[in-house]
Amino acid sequence: MTTSDHQGSVLLISGPSGCGKSTICKQLLEYDQVVFSVSATTRAPRPGEVDGTHYHFLSVDQFKARIEAGEFVEHAEVHGNMYGTLRAPMREAISAGKTYLVEIDVQGALQLKALEVDGIYVFVAPPSFEVLRQRLSGRGTETPEVLERRLKKAEDEYRERVKYDHIVVNDDLDRAVTEIRKIVGLPMPTTA
Ligand code: ADP
Ligand code: 5GP
Repeated sequence: MTTSDHQGSVLLISGPSGCGKSTICKQLLEYDQVVFSVSATTRAPRPGEVDGTHYHFLSVDQFKARIEAGEFVEHAEVHGNMYGTLRAPMREAISAGKTYLVEIDVQGALQLKALEVDGIYVFVAPPSFEVLRQRLSGRGTETPEVLERRLKKAEDEYRERVKYDHIVVNDDLDRAVTEIRKIVGLPMPTTA
């Protein structure tokens, strides 16, 4: 028997670009029980990103073919590139009793909610917009123009936070991760 006796769940970590989604997800992935949803995208890999691990990097034509084939639970254009959540791995993780971790922008999360995808929806909020600006520019992955576009969008996205099950302020990373861990019911980390 390959499936677990108990059903898994979907945990959606969402929020504006730069709020700390991927940093938080990295910590949650320390748990064996947590499985990361690898999205598909048409954007080019950043240095160090591995195909199949960080994203499935697809051409626009490949992406469109997968839309046609109904392989996405949701897909969206974000900052000029296509992104999508694949259906099959989500189904497999749930039936294996895992916590399926979906790191997703606000548009995508609300799309999943509208589709009534069952899950725990967490909005990760920056402590302030000034801190968000500092973190985004500190990350050094955006041009000044893209950075301004993302900050402008963050203001609109912040208004959507009320539609989520939980709002977690990412002030101190450990504190925010602990809050999410408690929401999901993950155990305390064990010290070796
Ligand atoms: P997102 O995935 O939401 O776009 P990232 O996880 O890439 O955001 O975080 C943006 C930047 O902010 C990164 O440089 C990251 O190291 C930093 N960061 C994330 N969380 C915190 C935190 N709690 N305190 C300080 N810096 C943080
Ligand atoms: P980045 O290019 O910085 O990795 O991601 C850009 C944005 O796309 C982020 O806000 C990220 O959360 C979002 N994103 C990543 N994967 C998906 C997905 O599968 N669907 C949607 N709608 N957005 C995604």
